[in-house]
Amino acid sequence: MKTERTFLGVPLVRPKVGFFELSSCEGCQLQILNNEASLLDFLSLVEIVNFREGMKEKSNDYEIAFVEGSVTRRDEEERLQIIRRNAKVVVAMGSCACFGGVNQLKNRFNDLEWVKKEVYGDYPIESRRAQPISAFVKVDLEIYGCPIKKEELEKIVTKLVLGQEINHPNYPVCMECKANENICLFDLGEPCLGPVTRAGCDSWCPTNRMGCWGCRGPVPAANLKQLEEIVEQRNIPKERLLDRLECFGGFAQAAQEMRDKLKGGE
Ligand code: SF4
Ligand code: SF4
Ligand code: SF4
Repeated sequence: MKTERTFLGVPLVRPKVGFFELSSCEGCQLQILNNEASLLDFLSLVEIVNFREGMKEKSNDYEIAFVEGSVTRRDEEERLQIIRRNAKVVVAMGSCACFGGVNQLKNRFNDLEWVKKEVYGDYPIESRRAQPISAFVKVDLEIYGCPIKKEELEKIVTKLVLGQEINHPNYPVCMECKANENICLFDLGEPCLGPVTRAGCDSWCPTNRMGCWGCRGPVPAANLKQLEEIVEQRNIPKERLLDRLECFGGFAQAAQEMRDKLKGGE
Protein backbone atom coordinates (compact mmCIF):
# COMPACT_ATOMS: atom_id res chain seq x y z
CA MET A 1 0.00 0.00 0.00
CA LYS A 2 1.14 3.54 -0.78
CA THR A 3 0.82 6.23 1.93
CA GLU A 4 1.75 9.42 0.15
CA ARG A 5 -1.32 11.45 1.28
CA THR A 6 -2.33 12.49 4.77
CA PHE A 7 -5.46 13.92 6.35
CA LEU A 8 -5.05 15.80 9.68
CA GLY A 9 -1.61 14.24 9.85
CA VAL A 10 -2.98 10.71 9.52
CA PRO A 11 -1.59 8.81 6.52
CA LEU A 12 -4.27 7.88 4.01
CA VAL A 13 -4.06 4.35 2.66
CA ARG A 14 -5.30 4.08 -0.89
CA PRO A 15 -5.28 0.60 -2.46
CA LYS A 16 -4.03 0.37 -6.02
CA VAL A 17 -6.79 -0.76 -8.33
CA GLY A 18 -7.05 -1.76 -11.97
CA PHE A 19 -10.09 -1.88 -14.25
CA PHE A 20 -10.02 -4.43 -17.04
CA GLU A 21 -12.40 -5.42 -19.81
CA LEU A 22 -12.90 -8.74 -21.59
CA SER A 23 -15.78 -9.23 -24.08
CA SER A 24 -18.10 -6.40 -23.13
CA CYS A 25 -19.67 -3.16 -24.28
CA GLU A 26 -17.57 -1.30 -21.66
CA GLY A 27 -20.78 0.24 -20.37
CA CYS A 28 -19.98 -0.71 -16.77
CA GLN A 29 -16.66 1.14 -16.89
CA LEU A 30 -18.42 4.08 -18.50
CA GLN A 31 -20.72 4.24 -15.50
CA ILE A 32 -17.72 5.03 -13.30
CA LEU A 33 -16.41 7.77 -15.58
CA ASN A 34 -19.91 9.22 -16.01
CA ASN A 35 -20.31 9.87 -12.34
CA GLU A 36 -18.75 13.31 -12.43
CA ALA A 37 -20.43 14.52 -9.23
CA SER A 38 -18.63 11.97 -7.10
CA LEU A 39 -15.66 11.06 -9.33
CA LEU A 40 -13.14 13.12 -7.33
CA ASP A 41 -14.31 11.62 -4.04
CA PHE A 42 -14.01 8.19 -5.61
CA LEU A 43 -10.49 8.93 -6.84
CA SER A 44 -9.46 10.04 -3.35
CA LEU A 45 -10.35 6.55 -2.10
CA VAL A 46 -8.22 4.52 -4.50
CA GLU A 47 -5.14 4.85 -6.65
CA ILE A 48 -6.11 3.78 -10.16
CA VAL A 49 -3.14 2.29 -12.01
CA ASN A 50 -4.93 0.64 -14.94
CA PHE A 51 -8.09 1.88 -16.67
CA ARG A 52 -7.81 1.78 -20.47
CA GLU A 53 -11.09 3.61 -20.95
CA GLY A 54 -9.93 6.54 -18.83
CA MET A 55 -6.12 6.81 -18.91
CA LYS A 56 -2.98 5.87 -20.86
CA GLU A 57 -0.76 4.71 -17.98
CA LYS A 58 -0.59 0.97 -17.26
CA SER A 59 0.85 -1.01 -14.38
CA ASN A 60 0.68 -4.59 -13.15
CA ASP A 61 1.13 -3.42 -9.57
CA TYR A 62 -2.45 -3.48 -8.22
CA GLU A 63 -4.25 -5.04 -5.28
CA ILE A 64 -7.87 -4.93 -6.43
CA ALA A 65 -8.86 -5.85 -9.99
CA PHE A 66 -12.30 -5.00 -11.35
CA VAL A 67 -13.04 -7.19 -14.35
CA GLU A 68 -15.82 -6.35 -16.79
CA GLY A 69 -16.99 -8.68 -19.55
CA SER A 70 -17.27 -12.38 -20.20
CA VAL A 71 -14.63 -14.76 -21.54
CA THR A 72 -15.14 -15.62 -25.22
CA ARG A 73 -11.54 -16.05 -26.46
CA ARG A 74 -8.38 -17.89 -25.44
CA ASP A 75 -6.35 -14.66 -25.04
CA GLU A 76 -9.02 -13.34 -22.65
CA GLU A 77 -8.70 -16.46 -20.53
CA GLU A 78 -4.92 -15.96 -20.42
CA ARG A 79 -5.25 -12.26 -19.50
CA LEU A 80 -7.69 -13.18 -16.76
CA GLN A 81 -5.25 -15.70 -15.27
CA ILE A 82 -2.54 -12.99 -15.19
CA ILE A 83 -4.94 -10.52 -13.53
CA ARG A 84 -5.79 -13.17 -10.91
CA ARG A 85 -2.11 -13.77 -10.18
CA ASN A 86 -1.43 -10.04 -9.78
CA ALA A 87 -4.45 -9.07 -7.64
CA LYS A 88 -5.30 -9.88 -4.04
CA VAL A 89 -8.98 -9.24 -4.71
CA VAL A 90 -10.77 -9.94 -8.01
CA VAL A 91 -14.17 -8.34 -8.48
CA ALA A 92 -16.55 -9.44 -11.26
CA MET A 93 -18.17 -6.22 -12.42
CA GLY A 94 -21.53 -6.38 -14.21
CA SER A 95 -23.73 -9.12 -15.64
CA CYS A 96 -21.24 -10.13 -18.37
CA ALA A 97 -18.52 -10.90 -15.84
CA CYS A 98 -20.92 -12.42 -13.26
CA PHE A 99 -23.14 -14.54 -15.53
CA GLY A 100 -21.94 -14.24 -19.14
CA GLY A 101 -24.37 -11.35 -19.73
CA VAL A 102 -25.98 -10.63 -23.07
CA ASN A 103 -22.96 -12.27 -24.75
CA GLN A 104 -24.09 -15.69 -23.56
CA LEU A 105 -27.23 -15.46 -25.71
CA LYS A 106 -25.13 -16.94 -28.51
CA ASN A 107 -24.58 -20.08 -26.40
CA ARG A 108 -28.14 -21.06 -27.30
CA PHE A 109 -27.03 -21.82 -30.87
CA ASN A 110 -25.84 -25.39 -31.23
CA ASP A 111 -23.63 -24.60 -34.21
CA LEU A 112 -21.31 -21.75 -33.19
CA GLU A 113 -19.31 -22.14 -36.42
CA TRP A 114 -22.48 -21.27 -38.37
CA VAL A 115 -23.03 -18.22 -36.12
CA LYS A 116 -19.48 -17.01 -36.74
CA LYS A 117 -19.91 -17.39 -40.48
CA GLU A 118 -23.20 -15.47 -40.39
CA VAL A 119 -21.73 -12.62 -38.31
CA TYR A 120 -18.16 -12.32 -39.57
CA GLY A 121 -18.46 -13.79 -43.08
CA ASP A 122 -15.03 -14.08 -44.70
CA TYR A 123 -13.29 -12.39 -41.76
CA PRO A 124 -13.36 -15.11 -39.11
CA ILE A 125 -12.28 -14.38 -35.55
CA GLU A 126 -12.00 -16.67 -32.57
CA SER A 127 -15.23 -16.62 -30.56
CA ARG A 128 -16.07 -19.39 -28.12
CA ARG A 129 -19.01 -19.93 -25.80
CA ALA A 130 -19.38 -16.85 -23.57
CA GLN A 131 -18.67 -17.70 -19.93
CA PRO A 132 -18.55 -15.80 -16.64
CA ILE A 133 -15.10 -15.14 -15.23
CA SER A 134 -15.78 -17.49 -12.30
CA ALA A 135 -15.56 -20.38 -14.80
CA PHE A 136 -11.80 -19.70 -15.00
CA VAL A 137 -10.59 -17.98 -11.81
CA LYS A 138 -11.58 -17.52 -8.18
CA VAL A 139 -13.82 -14.47 -7.83
CA ASP A 140 -13.85 -12.68 -4.47
CA LEU A 141 -16.79 -10.40 -5.04
CA GLU A 142 -19.53 -9.78 -7.59
CA ILE A 143 -21.16 -6.47 -8.48
CA TYR A 144 -24.41 -7.07 -10.31
CA GLY A 145 -26.30 -5.22 -13.03
CA CYS A 146 -26.22 -4.35 -16.71
CA PRO A 147 -24.82 -1.85 -16.36
CA ILE A 148 -23.68 -1.73 -12.73
CA LYS A 149 -25.12 1.07 -10.62
CA LYS A 150 -22.38 3.62 -10.02
CA GLU A 151 -23.62 4.47 -6.52
CA GLU A 152 -23.51 0.80 -5.62
CA LEU A 153 -19.96 0.40 -6.95
CA GLU A 154 -18.80 3.41 -4.94
CA LYS A 155 -20.42 2.07 -1.79
CA ILE A 156 -18.79 -1.33 -2.31
CA VAL A 157 -15.36 0.19 -3.01
CA THR A 158 -15.63 2.32 0.14
CA LYS A 159 -16.39 -0.80 2.18
CA LEU A 160 -13.53 -2.70 0.52
CA VAL A 161 -11.09 0.12 1.37
CA LEU A 162 -12.35 0.28 4.97
CA GLY A 163 -12.21 -3.51 5.27
CA GLN A 164 -15.94 -3.71 6.02
CA GLU A 165 -18.19 -6.64 5.19
CA ILE A 166 -20.13 -6.38 1.93
CA ASN A 167 -23.66 -7.76 1.93
CA HIS A 168 -25.83 -7.79 -1.16
CA PRO A 169 -29.60 -7.57 -0.71
CA ASN A 170 -30.97 -11.09 -0.27
CA TYR A 171 -34.54 -10.12 -1.16
CA PRO A 172 -36.15 -9.70 -4.60
CA VAL A 173 -36.72 -6.59 -6.74
CA CYS A 174 -40.45 -6.82 -5.83
CA MET A 175 -39.60 -5.56 -2.33
CA GLU A 176 -38.12 -2.34 -3.72
CA CYS A 177 -40.93 -2.08 -6.27
CA LYS A 178 -43.55 -2.24 -3.54
CA ALA A 179 -41.64 0.31 -1.45
CA ASN A 180 -41.72 2.59 -4.52
CA GLU A 181 -45.51 2.13 -4.66
CA ASN A 182 -45.50 1.00 -8.31
CA ILE A 183 -48.45 -0.70 -9.97
CA CYS A 184 -47.46 -4.32 -10.51
CA LEU A 185 -46.78 -4.93 -14.20
CA PHE A 186 -48.43 -8.35 -14.02
CA ASP A 187 -51.67 -6.44 -13.33
CA LEU A 188 -51.06 -4.61 -16.62
CA GLY A 189 -50.52 -7.91 -18.48
CA GLU A 190 -46.72 -7.62 -18.69
CA PRO A 191 -44.20 -10.24 -17.53
CA CYS A 192 -41.60 -9.29 -14.93
CA LEU A 193 -38.73 -11.16 -13.27
CA GLY A 194 -38.92 -9.00 -10.14
CA PRO A 195 -40.11 -11.89 -7.92
CA VAL A 196 -36.96 -13.96 -8.60
CA THR A 197 -34.28 -11.29 -9.19
CA ARG A 198 -31.89 -9.95 -6.58
CA ALA A 199 -32.74 -6.40 -5.48
CA GLY A 200 -30.30 -3.51 -5.32
CA CYS A 201 -31.32 -1.46 -8.37
CA ASP A 202 -34.21 0.22 -6.54
CA SER A 203 -36.61 -1.50 -9.00
CA TRP A 204 -35.19 0.59 -11.82
CA CYS A 205 -37.19 -0.98 -14.68
CA PRO A 206 -40.61 -1.49 -13.04
CA THR A 207 -40.47 2.09 -11.72
CA ASN A 208 -40.12 3.12 -15.37
CA ARG A 209 -43.01 0.86 -16.40
CA MET A 210 -40.86 -1.94 -17.82
CA GLY A 211 -40.82 -5.46 -16.47
CA CYS A 212 -37.55 -6.64 -14.90
CA TRP A 213 -35.27 -8.69 -17.21
CA GLY A 214 -33.20 -10.16 -14.38
CA CYS A 215 -29.89 -8.38 -15.02
CA ARG A 216 -28.84 -8.73 -11.37
CA GLY A 217 -29.31 -12.51 -11.41
CA PRO A 218 -31.30 -14.75 -9.09
CA VAL A 219 -32.10 -13.82 -5.51
CA PRO A 220 -31.18 -16.62 -3.06
CA ALA A 221 -33.89 -19.31 -3.04
CA ALA A 222 -35.56 -17.83 -6.14
CA ASN A 223 -38.92 -19.54 -6.63
CA LEU A 224 -39.04 -20.06 -10.40
CA LYS A 225 -41.90 -22.55 -10.11
CA GLN A 226 -44.11 -19.91 -8.51
CA LEU A 227 -43.17 -17.40 -11.20
CA GLU A 228 -44.14 -19.92 -13.89
CA GLU A 229 -47.52 -20.33 -12.20
CA ILE A 230 -48.10 -16.56 -12.07
CA VAL A 231 -47.27 -16.32 -15.79
CA GLU A 232 -49.69 -19.18 -16.59
CA GLN A 233 -52.47 -17.64 -14.49
CA ARG A 234 -52.09 -14.34 -16.38
CA ASN A 235 -52.11 -16.10 -19.79
CA ILE A 236 -48.74 -14.66 -20.68
CA PRO A 237 -47.00 -16.88 -23.28
CA LYS A 238 -44.16 -18.93 -21.76
CA GLU A 239 -41.86 -17.72 -24.56
CA ARG A 240 -42.05 -14.18 -23.17
CA LEU A 241 -40.89 -15.44 -19.80
CA LEU A 242 -38.11 -17.45 -21.45
CA ASP A 243 -36.90 -14.42 -23.44
CA ARG A 244 -36.25 -12.67 -20.14
CA LEU A 245 -34.79 -15.63 -18.28
CA GLU A 246 -32.31 -16.21 -21.10
CA CYS A 247 -31.21 -12.62 -21.53
CA PHE A 248 -28.40 -12.03 -19.01
CA GLY A 249 -27.24 -15.51 -18.07
CA GLY A 250 -28.12 -15.51 -14.36
CA PHE A 251 -31.09 -17.80 -15.03
CA ALA A 252 -29.52 -19.73 -17.92
CA GLN A 253 -29.85 -23.16 -16.34
CA ALA A 254 -33.44 -22.62 -15.16
CA ALA A 255 -34.34 -21.33 -18.62
CA GLN A 256 -32.76 -24.35 -20.31
CA GLU A 257 -34.72 -26.71 -18.05
CA MET A 258 -37.95 -24.83 -18.80
CA ARG A 259 -37.25 -24.95 -22.55
CA ASP A 260 -36.47 -28.69 -22.38
CA LYS A 261 -39.79 -29.21 -20.58
CA LEU A 262 -41.63 -27.20 -23.25
CA LYS A 263 -40.00 -29.25 -26.01
CA GLY A 264 -40.97 -32.42 -24.19
CA GLY A 265 -44.58 -31.16 -24.29
CA GLU A 266 -45.01 -31.04 -20.50
S1 SF4 B 1 -22.86 -5.89 -17.98
FE1 SF4 B 1 -24.00 -4.74 -19.54
S2 SF4 B 1 -23.18 -2.66 -19.46
FE2 SF4 B 1 -21.73 -4.01 -18.39
S3 SF4 B 1 -20.27 -4.59 -19.98
FE3 SF4 B 1 -21.82 -6.18 -19.96
S4 SF4 B 1 -23.29 -5.52 -21.53
FE4 SF4 B 1 -22.03 -3.76 -21.04
S1 SF4 C 1 -43.86 -5.02 -11.25
FE1 SF4 C 1 -42.39 -6.69 -11.07
S2 SF4 C 1 -41.05 -6.08 -9.44
FE2 SF4 C 1 -42.89 -4.84 -9.26
S3 SF4 C 1 -44.20 -5.97 -7.83
FE3 SF4 C 1 -44.77 -6.58 -9.91
S4 SF4 C 1 -43.58 -8.44 -10.27
FE4 SF4 C 1 -42.63 -7.39 -8.54
S1 SF4 D 1 -35.30 -4.07 -12.59
FE1 SF4 D 1 -34.35 -5.99 -13.16
S2 SF4 D 1 -33.53 -5.68 -15.23
FE2 SF4 D 1 -34.00 -3.66 -14.35
S3 SF4 D 1 -32.10 -2.95 -13.42
FE3 SF4 D 1 -33.25 -4.00 -11.81
S4 SF4 D 1 -32.55 -6.13 -11.85
FE4 SF4 D 1 -31.90 -5.17 -13.78
